[in-house]
Amino acid sequence: MDTKGSSDTSRRDFLKGLGAVPAAALLGAGGSYDGHAGGSAVGDGGRRVTRGGVGALRTEPVPPPDRPLVGIQIGARSFVDEGVDGCLDTLQAKGGVNTLCSTVFTYGRGLAGRQVPGQPLPDHGVQEYDEIHGGSYTAAHPEHYVESPIRPADLRAPELGDFDILADVTAKAKARGMQTYLLFEEVYNPSLIPNFEKISEVDVYGRLGSSTCLNNPGARAFILSMVEDWMTNNELDGLMWETERQGPLNTMIGAFGGNLPSRMHAYCFCPYCVRKGREQGIDPERARQGYIALDRFMKQTRAGTLSTDGTFITFWRLLVEYPEIMAWHRFWFHSQEEMYGLIYGTAKSINRSAQVGWHIMYYVTLSPFFMADQDYPRLARNADFLKPATYNNCGGPRFASFIRNLQSTVFRDMTPEQVLAMHYAWLHWEGEASLDQLPTVGLSANYVAHEVKRAMAALKGEIPLYAGIDIDVPTGLDEKRTQPEDVKAATLAAFRAGAPGVVLSRKYAEMKLTNLAGAGAALKELGYA
Ligand SMILES: [Zn+2]
Repeated sequence: MDTKGSSDTSRRDFLKGLGAVPAAALLGAGGSYDGHAGGSAVGDGGRRVTRGGVGALRTEPVPPPDRPLVGIQIGARSFVDEGVDGCLDTLQAKGGVNTLCSTVFTYGRGLAGRQVPGQPLPDHGVQEYDEIHGGSYTAAHPEHYVESPIRPADLRAPELGDFDILADVTAKAKARGMQTYLLFEEVYNPSLIPNFEKISEVDVYGRLGSSTCLNNPGARAFILSMVEDWMTNNELDGLMWETERQGPLNTMIGAFGGNLPSRMHAYCFCPYCVRKGREQGIDPERARQGYIALDRFMKQTRAGTLSTDGTFITFWRLLVEYPEIMAWHRFWFHSQEEMYGLIYGTAKSINRSAQVGWHIMYYVTLSPFFMADQDYPRLARNADFLKPATYNNCGGPRFASFIRNLQSTVFRDMTPEQVLAMHYAWLHWEGEASLDQLPTVGLSANYVAHEVKRAMAALKGEIPLYAGIDIDVPTGLDEKRTQPEDVKAATLAAFRAGAPGVVLSRKYAEMKLTNLAGAGAALKELGYA
């Protein structure tokens, strides 16, 4: 059940040809896509630079696979609890799954462990909540970590003993015709990772953050060492990385859902970023002053102590006064894209046939600000596929909280309902719920179709798009809860909108089998199963 299909051959041949391209040429091409990438990558040393350049060079379209990809995100805990064969049986029988997206590295509960405490346990697996330490769920090979400040021995997640989600699962999956894509995300627990302070992001006030700086050479070496290790020592069909961050400006205006943080953190102002920003013609000190002024504005806005001009005009005046606010934000997300290029190049230089792509967090479908940053065609230059999180069930409560957050900051001159109406107009969605209803009704399958079509139109068939289908992603117990017909409708909508695949998200351990079966039912109806 090879979902890649023979039509991918031309692209593989193209990549094979890269072996003959001089490193200098790769560097030049790597630096061309936004005028900054090549210069920034030089500091990482020749080996990494060459790899990063490979990704930026890709120009050939990737045709869609012959068969739909039906992926599922799954952590090691499920295989340990339910047995490898038992799990694979269930995934195939209930969900028509043909691709494992196996979590090899995270310190978060979103992709690892059993059900999140406080949420009802699903209808399978061990019926107890667990504790997770997190880290790596596969063996590490120290020779790949020479340049990394983080030692591989400090990364192995201890809670599952020697169980290895790649070595103990991949061959068994392959024997059934199932592919394995490794999945990892940048969710860290700095208190459990010695030396993390050497690679962490630094906010506008000099405080260390819980994620890595995107420009710190040690941070880059750490992530690329893991990628090199995994790709070298395993036979993998693909790789998917999750970087769920939205950059300093989106963070400051509270575009990320959930409760607004009481203390805003604008990243990154570490010495590496400051130097690189300056090299790119941005005044880091002006950017710093701009973000501090923005922080002050947000505090005044939320305290209701702003002066006479109202919120939006004052906000806009800040952007005009400090264009460096926008420049630093752009610098941030282009740095994130450089990481995509480096990971892509590193993985492809080891395994050219592996499909390397990115989970793009759900704000790529909900936030006009984040949508503007995350330009699909630009992302496609360093990817074999994209998986936008078109999560319609949890999308309802999340979108409602996003709207309320933005209303409480930059759109305070309007009512929350007016802010929602403005977003519905911008997003061109029709028939979605009112603000009061969104948390309990969720978004519709039409939203899934709309966002798949939007992404497909932007990508122009250059690379496949795999729609993220949310199954039991936690919401409040009184909010929208996934039902089998929701999963079936969303899966049908994604395929009928032209997606060549779906990724059932965000982890098997929290999904009810009755809901997973909704995906299987959709595949049957489409004639795929
Ligand atoms: Zn930095």
